[in-house]
Amino acid sequence: MSTDRGTNDAPEAAPTAPTRYDPDREALGSLLGGEPAFRLEQLWEGLYRQGRPLEDITVLPADLRAHLADDLPTALESAAEQRADDGATTKWLWRLRDGAAVETVLMHYPDRSTVCVSTQAGCAMACGFCATGQAGFERQLGVGEIVEQVIRARWAAGGRRVSNVVFMGMGEPLANFDATWGAVRRLHDAVGIGARHLTISTVGIVPGIRRLTEAGLPVGLAVSLHAADDVLRDELVPINRRYPLTELLDACEEYRRRSRRRLSFEWALIDGVNDRFEDADRLAGIAGGLAAHVNLIPLNPTPGYAVVGSSRNRVHAFRNRLAAAGVAVTIRDTRGRDIDAACGQLRADHAVPLPAPFRRPATGTPVSDGPGIED
Ligand code: SAH
Repeated sequence: MSTDRGTNDAPEAAPTAPTRYDPDREALGSLLGGEPAFRLEQLWEGLYRQGRPLEDITVLPADLRAHLADDLPTALESAAEQRADDGATTKWLWRLRDGAAVETVLMHYPDRSTVCVSTQAGCAMACGFCATGQAGFERQLGVGEIVEQVIRARWAAGGRRVSNVVFMGMGEPLANFDATWGAVRRLHDAVGIGARHLTISTVGIVPGIRRLTEAGLPVGLAVSLHAADDVLRDELVPINRRYPLTELLDACEEYRRRSRRRLSFEWALIDGVNDRFEDADRLAGIAGGLAAHVNLIPLNPTPGYAVVGSSRNRVHAFRNRLAAAGVAVTIRDTRGRDIDAACGQLRADHAVPLPAPFRRPATGTPVSDGPGIED
């Protein structure tokens, strides 16, 4: 059994004392003690379906709200907030109660609004091109810390409904399976976001994909492939050494069959590394076999990785090569070019005490929405 920090999904003690969005309905009922049963209903509806700040759930008596606010503090304190794309993109750096920091991004599109949430503070997967991977693993997030990212984005979205959630921020969701799944259920059951509008992105933790298959809620699955042969993938995505491509693709196929959802593969295009036609052809073989959708992401530069992203021409040539082979492919919309939008970057800039003025030269990099985004 693995003993790597952050790669196992063994139940762990809650990282901090329970926060506002941690307790399930039953636990919240216990907290309400002798209150009449309808109070629980009002609280649950207010917190989740309506997504209101506790203070604004005014059907509850003020002293009850005050008492709940003391017992269940919020988990996230805003340490930095940035806007880009004329206000269509907002990115937060949150300070957690124990001082750890994570990021969340809200992206508005004409037809939907998507929140990208973090599932871990840091990440143990050590993908060399990823800013979060470069910084290493800090700790797992709890259910409440994940769910609150969505709720807080909803507050900020004003009149716009947050329709989609992608588990594509900091961390590896399937290396924190229990909390990720707890958050998925809460968002689905209590907030009312349909499985079609929830997407988990994974580096390819095979036992996690298998658990997801058994869990029986057909959420979207995006797999960060980046290489279509084991030699290159071992290098780019080190967890491939433990779960090589044949095993990964087997698990993908099973997920596809059982969930009846189209898979998507993410592919960050890196100059001279995985952007050759032979890479495209291998990828086409894999994606074609699984009828998967491919999302190409021009690599975002990060301080700890020397190689640059593919040129615009190369990205388009790669896309055309895949399309000619019959693969459904999109170049991912890049949001937040003028902010530190690559996951992990805002946090990296705030490694020193917070809050600090958070301004950075306009070398920021794109963030990603879920699958299927046209450029
Ligand atoms: N751990 C999960 C989810 C977080 S990363 C996963 O690996 O899928 C979200 C996506 O951003 C992944 O596809 C990841 O490979 C990609 N990514 C990370 N760093 C990047 C960078 N510098 N440029 C482009 N994509 C990057």
